[in-house]
Amino acid sequence: MHIKSAEFITSAVKPAQYPPPDLPEVAFIGRSNVGKSSMINCLVQRKSLVKTSQTPGKTQLVNFFLVNGCMRFVDLPGYGYAKVPKSVQQQWGPMIETYIDQRPNLCGLFLLLDIRRDVREEEGHILQWLMKKKLPVRLVLTKADKFSRSAAQNRLKILLEQTGLEKNDLLPFSSVTRQGRDELWSLVSSMTGI
Ligand code: GDP
Repeated sequence: MHIKSAEFITSAVKPAQYPPPDLPEVAFIGRSNVGKSSMINCLVQRKSLVKTSQTPGKTQLVNFFLVNGCMRFVDLPGYGYAKVPKSVQQQWGPMIETYIDQRPNLCGLFLLLDIRRDVREEEGHILQWLMKKKLPVRLVLTKADKFSRSAAQNRLKILLEQTGLEKNDLLPFSSVTRQGRDELWSLVSSMTGI
C-alpha cells in the first residue's frame, strides 16, 4: 500500500466523540507495551504518528487516524499494565466493548500478542467475544524479530493450540524488520475493500 497521508483525527472516550461513521475502520487492540504504536507507525511509514508509550497503559482513549483520506485506523486502549491503578484498568473493558458494539463501520480487528507470550485471560475473552460478533479478527504476533524463523514456527504451533484459530489467522510481525507489513496491509485491504 502506498501511503500518501496519515493523520491523527481525534481521541474519544464515548461514542458521541467518535468521528461520523462514514469511512471504513480497522481497529488494533493489545496489552500495553505489546508494540501496537510501533506497528501502526510502521504500517503508515511515520516515525511517531502514534506516540510510543513512555508510561505504558496511561492513556485510556480510543484514538482515530485517517489514512490516505479513505480509511481510519483505530488505536484502542492498551490493557493489563500492572502499574496503572485498578480504576483506570477497569475502564478499558467497557471502552473497547462500546466501540466494537456500536461502530457500524468497523470492518475488522487486529489483536496483538507478543510472540514470546502465551495467550492469557484477556486475549481469550476478546477472541471469544469477537467470534460471537462474527467480526473478522486476526492475531498479530509482534516482535517476531526476537525469534529465528524456526523458533517462530514452533511458537505459532503453540499459539494455534492455545487460541483454536486457523493458521491463516495468525501473522508474525516486526516493526524492526518490517516482517509481515505487506501481509497486514493485504488483510486491511480485504477487510475494508480498499
Ligand atoms: P505499545 O504500548 O503497545 O504501543 O508498544 P510500543 O510500540 O510503545 O512498544 C513497546 C516497546 O517494545 C518499545 O520499547 C519498542 O521499541 C518495543 N518494540 C515495539 N515493536 C517492536 C518490534 O517489532 N521488535 C522489537 N524487538 N521491539 C519492539
